[in-house]
Amino acid sequence: MIPRIAEVHITEQLYLDFIEVLKINGFKGEINPDYASRVVLSTDNSIYQVLPQGVVFPRTVDDLVVLARLAETPRFKEVVLSARGGGTGTNGQSLTDGLIVDISRHMNQILEINAEERWVRVQGGVVKDQLNAALKPYGLFFAPELSTSNRATIGGMINTDASGQGSCMYGKTRDHVLELSSVFLDGTLWHSAPLDDVTLEQIKQRDDRVGEVHRVVDQVFTEHRELIDAKFPKLNRCLTGYDLAHIRDEQGRFNLNSVLCGAEGSLAFIAEAKLNVLPIPKYSALVNLKYAGFQDSLEDAAKLMAWGPTSIETVDSKVLNLAMNDIVWDSVKAYFPQAEGEPTIQGINLVEYTGDDEDELQQKIAKLTSYLDSVSGEPGQSFGYSVVMGAAEVNKIWGMRKKSVGLLGNGKGEQRPIPFVEDTAVPPENLAAYIKEFRELLDSHNLAYGMFGHVDAGVLHVRPAIDMKDEVEEKLIRVISDGVVALTQKYHGLIWGEHGKGVRSEYAPAFFGELYPQLQVIKGAFDPANQLNPGKICTPLIDGAELLKIDAVPTRGQHDRQIPAVAREEYKQAMFCNGNGACYNYDPKDAMCPSWKATRERKHSPKGRSSLIREWLRLMSLQGVDIVAEGRKARYGSFMSSLPGRIKNSWKKKQGEYDFNNEVHEAMMGCLACKSCVAQCPIKVNVPDFRSRFLEAYYSRYLRPMKDYMVGGLEFMIPYLARFPAPYNWMMNNTLMKAVFRRWVGMMDSPPICTNSLKQGMDKRGVLFATPDNLSAITPDLRERSVIIVQDAFTSYFETQLVLDVIDLLNRTGFNVLVAPFKPNGKPLHVHGFKAAFNKAADANTHMLQTLATSGIPMVGVDPSMTLTYRQEYVDDGTRQQVKVELIQEWLVKHRDLLAETGARLSPHEFKLLAHCSEKTSAAASMADWKQIFQALGQSLELQATGCCGMAGTYGHESEHYDTSRKIYELSWSEVVNDPANAGKLVATGYSCRSQVKRLDNQQLRHPAQVLLALVKQG
Ligand SMILES: Cc1cc2nc3c(=O)[nH]c(=O)nc-3n(C[C@H](O)[C@H](O)[C@H](O)COP(=O)(O)OP(=O)(O)OC[C@H]3O[C@@H](n4cnc5c(N)ncnc54)[C@H](O)[C@@H]3O)c2cc1C
Ligand code: SF4
Ligand code: SF4
Repeated sequence: MIPRIAEVHITEQLYLDFIEVLKINGFKGEINPDYASRVVLSTDNSIYQVLPQGVVFPRTVDDLVVLARLAETPRFKEVVLSARGGGTGTNGQSLTDGLIVDISRHMNQILEINAEERWVRVQGGVVKDQLNAALKPYGLFFAPELSTSNRATIGGMINTDASGQGSCMYGKTRDHVLELSSVFLDGTLWHSAPLDDVTLEQIKQRDDRVGEVHRVVDQVFTEHRELIDAKFPKLNRCLTGYDLAHIRDEQGRFNLNSVLCGAEGSLAFIAEAKLNVLPIPKYSALVNLKYAGFQDSLEDAAKLMAWGPTSIETVDSKVLNLAMNDIVWDSVKAYFPQAEGEPTIQGINLVEYTGDDEDELQQKIAKLTSYLDSVSGEPGQSFGYSVVMGAAEVNKIWGMRKKSVGLLGNGKGEQRPIPFVEDTAVPPENLAAYIKEFRELLDSHNLAYGMFGHVDAGVLHVRPAIDMKDEVEEKLIRVISDGVVALTQKYHGLIWGEHGKGVRSEYAPAFFGELYPQLQVIKGAFDPANQLNPGKICTPLIDGAELLKIDAVPTRGQHDRQIPAVAREEYKQAMFCNGNGACYNYDPKDAMCPSWKATRERKHSPKGRSSLIREWLRLMSLQGVDIVAEGRKARYGSFMSSLPGRIKNSWKKKQGEYDFNNEVHEAMMGCLACKSCVAQCPIKVNVPDFRSRFLEAYYSRYLRPMKDYMVGGLEFMIPYLARFPAPYNWMMNNTLMKAVFRRWVGMMDSPPICTNSLKQGMDKRGVLFATPDNLSAITPDLRERSVIIVQDAFTSYFETQLVLDVIDLLNRTGFNVLVAPFKPNGKPLHVHGFKAAFNKAADANTHMLQTLATSGIPMVGVDPSMTLTYRQEYVDDGTRQQVKVELIQEWLVKHRDLLAETGARLSPHEFKLLAHCSEKTSAAASMADWKQIFQALGQSLELQATGCCGMAGTYGHESEHYDTSRKIYELSWSEVVNDPANAGKLVATGYSCRSQVKRLDNQQLRHPAQVLLALVKQG
């Protein structure tokens, strides 16, 4: 039995007092000093891990005012506050050992869109893609781009002065900030916009923080103008953080926003921003060039700028290969064909053109491509290219490029690519020479790395692979960082070209030189006691205030090395999460992490869950627990002998006894096991896998809820229940029994078992079970046209007609259909952590399927989630050989020509596919299969963008999850299902999805195979 974890790092008394007074002073947001929330927010995407004292989630500007004002009172002068948005910083920007002020959870509203004057007003927690989705109907967009646009907030972008692809055209975030509403540490809410000299003088007269700030900033600018001019490099990515060079704008107005932008939360809280927005260019195109060498692509990129593109990005073969092994490649692979005899691609250049005049754009592309044709194959030139037209297709390539930074963090083994010198910038003309030396530096330490860059802006992204758990390797952080600083200085560039400074602020004095003390004066005016994100950007001129040091802040590696290697291996699916935050995707129409979207609680995300497991493993190992052995004991130990202990522990839990195990358990129970993380996380973090392991260990200490046994046992009981479905169906439909089930068993809304049995339906159609005898009796001729349907409990017993319809469809297509005898698949057991029972079910099933496979007849499954289990959970632990069971569309697409004749007789219709999350993410290519199958029948099928339906097996039927399940459904499904324009058009592949639509919207969606059958019958 695993032990209780009673001792965790306790929040300091000062902060507990601060929190208490905060409540008394009327702070309306949530306040979380709980250990789980602190652990989850102790990392960003950097190498660092710093445990905060607590987290607060302000709801309104007033909350920020209350918070700031209290922090300035003498009693709380030692309290430090760090604002946090999406937490996607790569250098510890939002990490603190004080209090985190998470502005993203509640302050995320778009307040005003003025399309005519082209501006918007937003709260600091709005996500960049959220804003652009709202602007799209107006034909407008917020231009500064960044790879984390689906999770980074406007507050974070302003505070890091974010920019990315296209920056030469569109500039940085600061260039689009019109006004800011900031809360200063004395509690003043200040609206800053460019000021004329008269107004500036009036403000300078004020006897408060606002007056002080304006006086100091103006004085620094006036007195050090020449030095500022000399120190700030004339780069597209000029120095961020207290941007003195732009204190006076082009019209000579004083603009405090130039100091606030890039301040990394060290000066004020940004509550709201008024931003400039631009018309979306009407036309866009990309020319994708392939090279035999990365250096060639870099050198060529500089020359290609002469062809007038909007932007140029270079990607190396390492990154390209990572993309090729990711789900993202399916959407772009057509644009990177590798013809026979061509050299292997070692680098690519993505040359972008945008504009409002299509002819002009076409002419530019024609000029470039005719040049490319003329030099193709010459030394140093590209050997091929493709042209992509239109925003939809272009965005697919940019989607791949955006994911590349995350993918850079992926790799095999213990040495993982990490960010610490990942965003240097040098003048573009120096880039190729600079990169050459940069590579020599990395090579001299035998470091592996992948690279890509915004070559037009001279920015290079690189993440060297280092095992931070290794104390010797950890020291390379200092060696490489110092080396890169020297190189960037040599080439007149910066170490922080894009992602901000964070812990790397250590190098600020080296770059700012004599100007650095002036920055300190400014910091002191805003934050005299060094309470706002201390140690970043700059310190006030007071005793004891120091910048953080790149090798003196606690790292994740130092935490992780406390976990024994065997435990790390057992839970490897959690260990490599690098915190890039791709799982915080805001888009309700994207499959990634429904539990995060519905709760907006970061512990209910893949990153949250991985962080908690890592801490759980660490705390267990500090107690000397061998977690792998505990897992084994839980799997094979006696149920009865541990029962008294589990009853006692569960009783104590009810009495409120603290145990960190329960905090981890709560986060795990919110997971739907939808597996979107497995495919969409760039690092392939697999929450259902480690969740299953955790639950197994957890329930060695605590009693399992009754529903777990019901869900886990359902597949085994169902064949018996289905013999006499009436009593079961009566029970599930009876009001009193429903209440008992909801209250005492924890299950609700269970669907009825079908009264028409599959066996009867098969008999009626003369369909046989795929037993060894029946298979051996099939003639070789018939074998060629045979197929075996592998049953699953859900469709066979709760949607029998669907299985019969599939049989009819395949029969009518000319196939001899057999049905595999029913065996529990075991997926529900895996989900709930019944590992021993799952292994037994998987072994039995694998044995049966292997026997059937010897017939050489293909096997297909109807339900995507259950079918994918054969290629995922069954083989994940390496003990079983994979047996090929195809998704029905993967198999049917190979025989689609058989449908063509019927198709010719049908009139065309439009259909929309609502695919199951697991299939969309883990078998993305099979979505195109459905399209092709429908096309063969002369029909059009579109993939409807939706997130998760909220059901995920039995999750939605569990009483405790009903509300979340419904919320998830309402995020994207409800609107699509209830849109009158979609009537009769929608098809859904997942049993769970169809059953969710039925119970929440009382509509019966068809499986695509049922539509195909109806069409075939018609034809
Ligand atoms: C894979 C990956 C790719 C990236 N690509 C890019 C890129 O292309 N371009 C780019 O510029 N950056 C990039 N970054 C870095 C990061 O995404 C940006 O710095 C982003 O702007 C941070 O936004 P955030 O909301 O996550 O802010 P956080 O990381 O939460 O915070 C960033 C800083 O802003 C402060 N802050 C946040 N909100 C507020 C507020 N309301 N008031 C005051 N201070 C606040 C925080 O204290 C912190 O110092 C990338 C990061 C990753 C992990
Ligand atoms: S779980 Fe994956 S997507 Fe989420 S932060 Fe970790 S590595 Fe990134
Ligand atoms: S399985 Fe689904 S719900 Fe669970 S963490 Fe992964 S994405 Fe989120």
